[in-house]
Order: sequence, then structure tokens, then C-alpha cells
Amino acid sequence: MKIDSITATPLSFRFPEGKAVAMGIGTARKRDVVIVKVQTSDGLVGYGESHPGRSPGAVASVINNTFGPLLQGMDACDVSGVWDLAHRMQLASHGLGAGAALALSGIDMALWDIRAKAANMPLYRMLGGKSKRVPAYAGGVALGYQDPEYLVVEAQGYVDQGYRAIKLRIGDTTAKDIARITAVRDALGDNIAILADANTAYTLADVRQIMPALAELKVGWLEEPFPCNDFASYRLAAQINPLVPIAAGENHYTRYEFARLIEDRAVVIFQPDLSKTGGVTEAMRIAALASAWRIPINPHSSAGGINLASTIHFLAAIDNGGYFEACVSQVNPLRDMFGSAFEIGKDGCVEPLETPGIGLEIDESIFASFPLIDGLGFDEKT
Ligand SMILES: [Mg+2]
Repeated sequence: MKIDSITATPLSFRFPEGKAVAMGIGTARKRDVVIVKVQTSDGLVGYGESHPGRSPGAVASVINNTFGPLLQGMDACDVSGVWDLAHRMQLASHGLGAGAALALSGIDMALWDIRAKAANMPLYRMLGGKSKRVPAYAGGVALGYQDPEYLVVEAQGYVDQGYRAIKLRIGDTTAKDIARITAVRDALGDNIAILADANTAYTLADVRQIMPALAELKVGWLEEPFPCNDFASYRLAAQINPLVPIAAGENHYTRYEFARLIEDRAVVIFQPDLSKTGGVTEAMRIAALASAWRIPINPHSSAGGINLASTIHFLAAIDNGGYFEACVSQVNPLRDMFGSAFEIGKDGCVEPLETPGIGLEIDESIFASFPLIDGLGFDEKT
């Protein structure tokens, strides 16, 4: 079964007026995905998703113009061969770094869709897992900066749906962050897990200031206080209060960057994103590396249904999986355009899809409704 063609389509939507969500990386105005389609000589077609990297047209171009010609003709079942060639020719030297990892991620995901379809298995079985209830938290572009009274209403809504864990956006002023977490903790009680994501907006001084409150409020993790490459601050922050573990990984690419995190021992919860870090293949490798150090995997997930569904398969197939990040964004047609990627149960858990492959039916006619929107996706944080 040979790879006949690889094509990418960037899709976008703009948040309706009044529906934008503010967080540590700014206020979200639009969202994008890059859908990757791989066709094989056997007639099987697979779909994957690449994160847009804030430049969806560029990511699509790397897939269409660089990886497509490079990988055409290869055996579609040659998991490590495809990944190795892509790494050697595009990631290892002079090759766009993170941009190439984003592009490769969607291709790798599409190839896994094909392999599982060829074996007539849902992806989780192909990866060596079984169907299981996977705990989920309410995340995605939601629960942003707003008055505590409104935030409490939004959070309670997710708990009413079944969620037993939610993730709040911090990285505002530490005083406002503490006020929001306190309001939500008071409203929801101690039986709901509260996680906190600073989206790289903190300084080391901010972390020193807020850590006692995070511990007091039983926050389950502090996510991405700093930019991904600020290794020194991560190491220092980890020493402030070990009761609040530090999580990161959505902006770390390939097992090589996670190996550095293991060496530093500062980040103790890993959050690789299948659509960014090198696809299903690389996420499985990162999970295996982390497993040896008893580091749990709580994958980041954005923004489309293909990546969300793939992430649940992945969590059902590893031995150190944690929460699934359920995108509860009020508005996200990219999540819903191929049907439901997940359903939250009253136990706060989700299950992988059962249809062979990733399990979603891709209707390409819908692409025309979400044409690429070039330009900035976030207003700068002020
Ligand atoms: Mg995050």
C-alpha cells in the first residue's frame, strides 16, 4: 500500500462578536486547523489534523509542497520509515523546526487512520489499547478572563454536564487570578478538580507570589507559567512548592524536546499535542519515555474533531494517560463539522470512537464553508 498523494487544506472561522475568549496569550478572535488527506494506491484514504501554528496557510504549504513530494511512493504502513525520512530531510537540518513538526503531525495522523482502516480496527486497538472510560476536563478556548460571578456560572455549567475537572485561565494579574480560582473553588467545592493554565504569561516573581494560593486552593497543576524554552525559570519554579506540579508540553516538539524536560525534572506533567509534536507515532514514543519516569501524559488538544478523536484513542492505548482535554468552547465548528468526536458522560469520562480508523466520517464538501482566514488569530494581551 503506497502513498499516492498528500494534500492539506487550511480551514478557519472567526468568533462571533461578543464570543471572543481572553487568556494569557491574548484574546482569541479566530481559530484554524489544517486538514491533511493521504490517498493510497489501494484506494484507502486517511485524514489527519495539523495544528495551524498561527499561520495555517504556511503549514498547509509545507505539507503540499515539501512533505507531499518527499513521502509520495513510500509504504503507508512504514510508520518509523516515514517519520525518519521526514525528520532527516526536514526537521533535523535547515527545515522550519516547529513548522515542520506541525506539518508532519497531520501526515502521521492520517497514516494511522489508514493503517487502522486497513486492519478494520479502531485506532486505539491498532495502538495496542482497549476501549475504556477516559477522564476528561473542561478545557479548550473557554473559562477565560471574566468577572468571577460569570466564570462561576460557566464552570457550574460544565459540572452539570458531567465534568469532574475544569481548567481555568490564569496569567492575568495574580490578584485577579486568585480571585477567580477562589470564586470557582467556593462555588464547586472540593470534589471538582481545578487546573490552571497561565499560557506562558507569568514571570518567576508571579509564580512565587501565586504558589501559596494555588496550593491552598488545591489546584491540580500549574500549566505553562513561562515560554517553552525558558528552561531556567521552569527549574526554579519547580522548587517553590512541589505540592503544585508544573505541567507543560503543548509547545514542545518531538521526543527530543521532551527528553530535555525529563533531564531538567521541573515539568512533571507532560502535555504533548498529537497535532503538533510529531503525530501519533511521536506521541506514543513520548509517552513511553515518560512512563519510565512515572510522568503522566495529559495531552493538549486543539482544535478540530480529528485531533480530539485521535487523542482519546491515544489515551486509551498508553499506560500513563491522565485527562483528556475536552474542548468545551461555546463556538467551535471545526470541532463539530465531522460529527461528535466525544461525548462527556455523567462520570466525567469519554470513550474512543469505534468505527475503524480515527472514526470520523470526513465530508469534504463542508470545507468550502470555512475558508482560510489569513492574519492574526489573537489580539495581544494588554
Ligand atoms: Mg495550555
